[in-house]
Amino acid sequence: MLKAMKFKNLNMDYARSITFGFEDALVSTTGVVVGIAVGTAQRDVIILAGIVTIAVEALSMGAGQYLSERTVHQMDVNHTHTDSLYLGAIFMFLAYMIGGMVPLFPMFVMPFPSAIYATVISAFIGLFLLGYVKGAIIGVPKLKSALEIFVVGGMATILGLVVGLLLKI
Ligand SMILES: [Zn+2]
Repeated sequence: MLKAMKFKNLNMDYARSITFGFEDALVSTTGVVVGIAVGTAQRDVIILAGIVTIAVEALSMGAGQYLSERTVHQMDVNHTHTDSLYLGAIFMFLAYMIGGMVPLFPMFVMPFPSAIYATVISAFIGLFLLGYVKGAIIGVPKLKSALEIFVVGGMATILGLVVGLLLKI
């Protein structure tokens, strides 16, 4: 019983890292890529900025995951958290790296300006799929889970783009 509970706690912590990393990567990379792409149509500049952003953010999120989970472990007097701080940080890092490549990918393969629209659409599809897969893995209704991440992440994406475009003018 205790073992099962510990295992569930383990999964919960890693699932949170992966969901958080993926969602944040999809939303913030889209903001950066679109923000730069509307300012310059230079593909190599956009791709370089995208890769640097993804790498820096993935490292920062991994470090943040380690530090925040460390805080939780220090407060966890009953020792219910047996997850590895390092593994949590690695999951966060990898989820961010992979998630960030999704909205950046159209910039490698598509002509302008359709690549910009494809970036936004890729992020929306990524959010929907993230929710769907999450639902399937943790055993909650898949479509509901998909729409939840799609709507919340999608709103963050759109608001980010609106703010970015307004500041450009
Ligand atoms: Zn934990």
